[in-house]
Amino acid sequence: MAETIYDVAIIGGGPGGYTAAIRAGQWGLKTCLIEKDDKLGGTCLHVGCIPTKALLFNAEVYEHLKAAKEFGIEGVETPKLNWAAVQQRKNKIVTKHTKGLDFLMRKNKVTTVQGYGRLTGPAKDGVLTVEVFTEGGGGAAGENTFVKAKNVILATGSEAKMLPGLEADSRVLTNIEILSLNALPKSLVVVGAGAVGVEFASIYRSFDAEVTVLEALPRMVPLEDEEVSKELLRAFTKKGIACHVNTKVEKVEKTKTGIAVTFTPADGKQQKLEAEKILIAVGRAPRTDNIGLEKTKIKPERGFIKTNEWMQTGEPGVYAIGDIVLGMPQLAHVGSMQGIVAVAKIASKPAKPLNPQHIPNCTYCEPQIGSVGLSEAKAKEAGRKVNIGKFPFAANSKASILGAHEGFIKVVSDAQYGEILGVHIIGPSATELISEAVAAIELEATAEDLMFTIHAHPTLAEAMLDAMNSVYGVAINA
Ligand SMILES: Cc1cc2nc3c(=O)[nH]c(=O)nc-3n(C[C@H](O)[C@H](O)[C@H](O)COP(=O)(O)OP(=O)(O)OC[C@H]3O[C@@H](n4cnc5c(N)ncnc54)[C@H](O)[C@@H]3O)c2cc1C
Repeated sequence: MAETIYDVAIIGGGPGGYTAAIRAGQWGLKTCLIEKDDKLGGTCLHVGCIPTKALLFNAEVYEHLKAAKEFGIEGVETPKLNWAAVQQRKNKIVTKHTKGLDFLMRKNKVTTVQGYGRLTGPAKDGVLTVEVFTEGGGGAAGENTFVKAKNVILATGSEAKMLPGLEADSRVLTNIEILSLNALPKSLVVVGAGAVGVEFASIYRSFDAEVTVLEALPRMVPLEDEEVSKELLRAFTKKGIACHVNTKVEKVEKTKTGIAVTFTPADGKQQKLEAEKILIAVGRAPRTDNIGLEKTKIKPERGFIKTNEWMQTGEPGVYAIGDIVLGMPQLAHVGSMQGIVAVAKIASKPAKPLNPQHIPNCTYCEPQIGSVGLSEAKAKEAGRKVNIGKFPFAANSKASILGAHEGFIKVVSDAQYGEILGVHIIGPSATELISEAVAAIELEATAEDLMFTIHAHPTLAEAMLDAMNSVYGVAINA
């Protein structure tokens, strides 16, 4: 039987890899998707975006019930959380979408292979080979498979970093363990105030745990605009989340029932805190060891792979997408768009490279954060003269209806031509509202363009209109 040579083989079935596979199928490419786990979806679907957002929605509903009286609803003042049911609902959502991916692979005629993929080296006669280690493969239980393809896309993703000397277990948690706890912890320490850390802090605080956040850098969500960080600190403190920035974690020890953390906050006075669990959310390391890079021209930097704008690596025919790519934010929508760009290049279809300034950053804690483009500080560092507009949700009528008054929309615009350089939202539905700003920036819109774009009333989106108005000091509602 003639050997199959695929147009493209993809190693890794997370959002980067599965999106690339679907698009490759749509373009009529003979496609093979190799995934080591027994299910597609990667970090995002199984231990990332989807389960966290499911829990965040539970937290939101629970908070609404706690505040029911304010909305004139009585009899539900002391809602009780059924943790098993919460977990079940989350798992059901994940299972549904896992099945959905299997369906999409069949629909788009993608061959899926379960096993651990590793490049064997450069292409021979234009054909690359991926050795796939199947369960027990290479030994007793069976032969390894060799997948041959004209192009290979590496999409192996990332995993949580640990603090030195610690290992994840039932008390020291990463994003994996914390998503399937048997019972709700009464107290939780979160190390790291990036997106993952603050989302879990928000979830477990809503579920009534005592939560402490320890962050080494001088502010919460350190990649966001400074004013957003300040507002989050204020909102979290109000909710009873103890936040320590500029803080060094010295030691984590196991106690009889939990953990003890020794840390030094900004004032230099060492403290010790006991809690039931600790979440380590200090970033994610790319999974690029042991995938055969040493036999290629690809030289990873701190584990990350350098690509050009079409996601091509230094090795002809080999592309990299998703969390393993150097200098790009580790986000599902970045990986999936990179997959689409790489496949377009392979299929000689039109495509547009990703512009890092056009990538939305969303953090789904309460209050939510959505941002795109340059922060005020970054714009100034880049030598831009800027005008700033800022509009508080407190002055937006839909926010009053929702009882969600915290936060604001901040616009950074070019002082000379009014081009929108950045938009930073903290407040209700920030992760949805940011899409308008992403589209505006993608289309090189000015603040004036949006000032004359009609926004429906009453909506949260009107806060965007007024934030644009406020760039010129003419907000209608404040
Ligand atoms: C708690 C948490 C919440 C998050 N929330 C969001 C969010 O709300 N929005 C957002 O945009 N991003 C979010 N992220 C980030 C997002 O999950 C990642 O950016 C995204 O999953 C990266 O996609 P990927 O395809 O590069 O890799 P992954 O999703 O990590 O998938 C890689 C896949 O490759 C497989 N694999 C690895 N090595 C091999 C091999 N050698 N052979 C075969 N298969 C292999 C893995 O098993 C895995 O299935 C979150 C992350 C975490 C941890």
